[in-house]
Amino acid sequence: MTHHCCEPMTDRADWHCDQHSDPFDCPDALVQFHAESQEYGLIIHDGGTSSITIAFCPWCGQRLSQSA
Ligand SMILES: [Zn+2]
Ligand SMILES: [Zn+2]
Repeated sequence: MTHHCCEPMTDRADWHCDQHSDPFDCPDALVQFHAESQEYGLIIHDGGTSSITIAFCPWCGQRLSQSA
């Protein structure tokens, strides 16, 4: 299991929903974690697959991105 900065982030980044296999289809999915780039994205539910890379955790404020 990937270690995230805090409990709320772990809940969100490891989000699994029984009804939606794709997090972009799930209104409850907030954060997508990209294991390859170690980046976190805020999922935008506009019907597409857009997400905003976040540099800081919205819950605990920890820096998430090395590049930003
Ligand atoms: Zn956090
Ligand atoms: Zn769902």
